Amino acid sequence: MKIIEEKYLADVAEFAKKNIAPFDLQIDRAAKLPNGLFQKLVDFDLLKVRIPKEYGGLGFSAMTSGKIVNIIAKANASVGVMLEGHYKSCDQIAKYGTEAAKKKYFPWGMQAILGFSNTEPESGSNPSKHQSYAVKKGDKWIISGDKVMITNGTLAQVYSVNVKTGPNEYSVFIVDKGMPGFSFGYVERFIGLRGIPCGEVVMDHIEVGEENLLGQVGQGLEIANNAHDDARYLMGAVLTGIQEHALDIAKNYVAKRYSGDSLLKDMQVTHYKLTKMATNQELTRLVYQEAARRKDAGEPYMEDSAMAKCFGSQAAVETGDLLLQI
Ligand SMILES: Cc1cc2nc3c(=O)[nH]c(=O)nc-3n(C[C@H](O)[C@H](O)[C@H](O)COP(=O)(O)OP(=O)(O)OC[C@H]3O[C@@H](n4cnc5c(N)ncnc54)[C@H](O)[C@@H]3O)c2cc1C
Repeated sequence: MKIIEEKYLADVAEFAKKNIAPFDLQIDRAAKLPNGLFQKLVDFDLLKVRIPKEYGGLGFSAMTSGKIVNIIAKANASVGVMLEGHYKSCDQIAKYGTEAAKKKYFPWGMQAILGFSNTEPESGSNPSKHQSYAVKKGDKWIISGDKVMITNGTLAQVYSVNVKTGPNEYSVFIVDKGMPGFSFGYVERFIGLRGIPCGEVVMDHIEVGEENLLGQVGQGLEIANNAHDDARYLMGAVLTGIQEHALDIAKNYVAKRYSGDSLLKDMQVTHYKLTKMATNQELTRLVYQEAARRKDAGEPYMEDSAMAKCFGSQAAVETGDLLLQI
């Protein structure tokens, strides 16, 4: 298995170099993927990575999944985040989904993106003030509410939504964009990461069966927290890729550009900047990979995941600024 995963990683690096990296700036400027790229990602099995083998997926480890996101994000950060959002959503269905939901939605998830929706306009990611809800009517659940800032929101076909099922009770249901009462709303306008949407999901009396419940009624907070843990180590992988990309640009530039009679690469002030960038990048990698190792080993990984996203975000901003100064 390890050999298969390592071979796949090498192939992903080639794939990204050929199919994604050349379009990096184009993706950001056009705020969309080039025609045909999404289908190439599907054909290359990148959507299958976190889907268990028994449902037709690749069932790769968290470590390999993180490395894949890292490689792709180095070529283009938006595509890396698209996979991050998809992988974290596959993980919640794999861990908490009913057999019927896995059989229905994993085949979709091999061809189309899945999303996870917790955030709301007035309460952010704090569910105690959430307003969306589900009520039981016979053997059906009726879901209404509004979720915002959802990674892949408007691109994804299927969304797990964390809603209230009682005054202090939260539950997660799977809804899909073909269901009556489902619509999309506002799409965020970001400074960067513009290649994929981060958008609003509106639910107006969507009706689902019990098989679309993830876990048990009342398990919503646990599942939302778990989705955050998965998102955060994968964001550490995205942030490592962003910093690798920045360091490559910087190294190429300083090798060719003179200041006075010296190449920038021969000046001590440049060494300081490159060293800081390399250290930031390596520390982000170490912490996201420690979170992934812990997840694979069945150990708690919440803290390392949070550190990967928190440290990685600050490090990537500093690394980007150092690149700009160079
Ligand atoms: C790129 C991106 C992708 C995302 N993808 C998803 C997704 O797939 N699914 C999903 O459910 N959500 C997603 N989100 C939303 C995200 O998870 C958070 O919910 C959202 O960023 C807001 O966080 P929060 O509610 O914890 O903010 P809070 O920490 O509650 O902050 C809300 C506001 O209060 C201010 N504030 C906080 N603390 C203080 C304080 N002590 N003093 C003064 N002001 C304070 C903040 O500055 C901010 O203006 C995404 C967000 C982004 C940016």
